[in-house]
Amino acid sequence: MGSVDIAKFEQLKTTGDLPSPKGAALAIIRLLQREDVSLVEVARTVKTDPAFVGRLIRAANGINVGGRRAIVSIHDALVVLGIPATRSLALSFSLLSGYRSGNCRNFDYKRFWSHSLACAVALQWLTLRTRAAPPEEAFAVGLLANIGRLGLATMFPNEYSRLLEQAKTGAGIDLLELEQQALVMTHNELSAALMHDWGLPRSFTEPVFHCERPDLGNFVEGSRQFALAWSLALANHIADMCLTEEPRRRALMPDLMLLGSRLSMDAETLYPMCDKVAAEWRTWAAELEVESCALPPFGDLSLAPNSPPVGAVAGAEQGLRILVVDDEASVRALLVSLLRGEGHEVFEASNGRQAFEIALDLRPHIMVADWMMPEMDGIEMTRALRQTKMGRGIYILIVTSFEDDERLIEAFEAGVDDFVGKPIKPRVLSARLRGARRVVQLQQEVERDREEIRRFAAELSVSNRRLQTAALTDPLTGLPNRRYAVDRFQQDWAAAVRKSRSLACLVIDIDDFKTINDTHGHDVGDAVLQQTVAALKKGLRTQDTLARMGGDEFMVICPDTTMEAALTCGERLRHLVESASISSGVATVRGRISVGVAVRESGMADIDALIKCADQGLYLAKQGGRNCVASPQTPPSK
Ligand code: GH3
Ligand code: MG
Repeated sequence: MGSVDIAKFEQLKTTGDLPSPKGAALAIIRLLQREDVSLVEVARTVKTDPAFVGRLIRAANGINVGGRRAIVSIHDALVVLGIPATRSLALSFSLLSGYRSGNCRNFDYKRFWSHSLACAVALQWLTLRTRAAPPEEAFAVGLLANIGRLGLATMFPNEYSRLLEQAKTGAGIDLLELEQQALVMTHNELSAALMHDWGLPRSFTEPVFHCERPDLGNFVEGSRQFALAWSLALANHIADMCLTEEPRRRALMPDLMLLGSRLSMDAETLYPMCDKVAAEWRTWAAELEVESCALPPFGDLSLAPNSPPVGAVAGAEQGLRILVVDDEASVRALLVSLLRGEGHEVFEASNGRQAFEIALDLRPHIMVADWMMPEMDGIEMTRALRQTKMGRGIYILIVTSFEDDERLIEAFEAGVDDFVGKPIKPRVLSARLRGARRVVQLQQEVERDREEIRRFAAELSVSNRRLQTAALTDPLTGLPNRRYAVDRFQQDWAAAVRKSRSLACLVIDIDDFKTINDTHGHDVGDAVLQQTVAALKKGLRTQDTLARMGGDEFMVICPDTTMEAALTCGERLRHLVESASISSGVATVRGRISVGVAVRESGMADIDALIKCADQGLYLAKQGGRNCVASPQTPPSK
């Protein structure tokens, strides 16, 4: 699997100036690097940059979904976002302010930031769903995911400008390939390397490295990195769609659906999410003074049954889209009137180069091109087109006065489909076009079948993923079940060990639940379970994981949480459940819970030991009269 090549990056560092944060952001980043930094100190430094204050609070509210109070203070924003996300946000906002323009002529700086911003918003929405990364960090990861492009434009303005030009008009060679050949690193490598250099973890940089081709990343299907790489690919695609104008935006729909399917999202979930992304992109863009535009609902782009689908098969009577290429205006005029007379939609170009560019945009079914033309002749144009994915599908008919076999063979070898002799005889041309139409139709049928297969594969993968999700979710409460929880807890455990951070576990059991069932019936019992969960959720932070372990038992894992904080959290949960009046329509019941608390200690072997310790806490709480919080690691509290 490709990952950041430090040596290459160091080499690159010596070549020129890499993008780097400046000003107040730099002070914030430095401060946040210190282990012992307090929130008060951070808040004080953040306040020195009023623009950043507003953005930080907006970012915190962006992930603060699910009915919690709006965040209005720096302190609360910092608590919700946490240190790593605050750092990354300081970094990316500072880059945005410092690199709004530059010397790379063909690099569109405005478009770059507009795209990066759309990608950031999209990734945040996606991770709220996929849990591929903490949503509070996703925004900055999305903003930085393409930073390597800016890096190359900053370091090699002239050379990169040339590569960008080449990629735009180049015959099928994509930008990554050109970068590979001409520069030390590709933009994806550089994005990952810069993020690594700025201290973002590998779990982010590797998916960034592979975000253009996640399928080549060798990620384990279902792993967080897999989900993040695909989420990034989808976020980038949504950003592309935000910045692409109609009617080309519609052509990006099939890939949107396909990428969505990798993340178990179908039209029903994707369209509303994309609309939210587009709206939030606009508000963020206003705040950051970045370009954006209003978009029509994504659902409007869907392939409605009565609108012709992309790549619709041209019917027998329907006209074809034909591009006529000839340097002589009189010949063009003749061909155009002839073809229009037969009901085709006809466009013109006066040389091969112009035709090449128009063709890639216009996607004609057929091109009728003269052989001999200035700038780029018909054969050179055919060769260039055949090297692009789109150009391979066009039926090319060459008009020629050459009769000799060698020249004709050369034309066919270059990729020409057929030829017609000069001077053009209208009846012969019509006959040739009938042959062409048959080929075009067959080709479109194959394409349509292929599209159907792709769609079918996408649907299949959605239902597979649904099954997978169902296997990991408790149907009554919608919470992750034991299977999911154990897996997730193990990851949190490993992260806590690696970073020497505290980790708390709370085991929660409803008091006298059997009695509730016996007195009011099983349905009321179910409602109590559901409403208890709703109350518990109100007391948790985004990074905490709540799971139903079975029956009336739940567990919460809280990263970065000390014993003192865990006991406070347990008490908050206990109080929330006790004060929630639980009603099921037929009865009002007061639910109560007992909570066992444990925190990771150096001697603990694994997550099982931590859970066992929390279980002992629960036992103590039940022994102590229920409706209370206890831990074997401290004296019980009431
Ligand atoms: P304690 O205070 O000691 O926890 O007493 P308790 O009555 O709550 O005892 P316990 O935790 O052992 O009881 C769990 C009960 O939960 C037993 C089981 O019938 C009931 N139960 C398990 N799953 C469900 C469910 O999905 N719905 C309902 N309504 N009841 C359930
Ligand atoms: Mg119980």
